[in-house]
Amino acid sequence: MLGGYKSVPYARRYENRKPVFEHREIAEATLGRKLKDGEIVHHINMDKTDNRRCNLLICTKNYHRLLHYRMQLYCATRIRAQQGV
Ligand SMILES: [Zn+2]
Repeated sequence: MLGGYKSVPYARRYENRKPVFEHREIAEATLGRKLKDGEIVHHINMDKTDNRRCNLLICTKNYHRLLHYRMQLYCATRIRAQQGV
């Protein structure tokens, strides 16, 4: 998938039947506070299973959308360049 995550599920556990995502817990522990509404934890290398702190980026929803849009453009441009189109 262009610029998308691998199709594997996020690591999670359940608390009161609600999913608690490992990458969000790690981000919160690093920040020392709960994530705010609208804060997204992005996996820099696009590997959803890689929850090392150095691979996690906390950003707003808008910035996250822009980030994925730009990555898709970048990937599409590279593929076209490889194909000589
Ligand atoms: Zn992302």
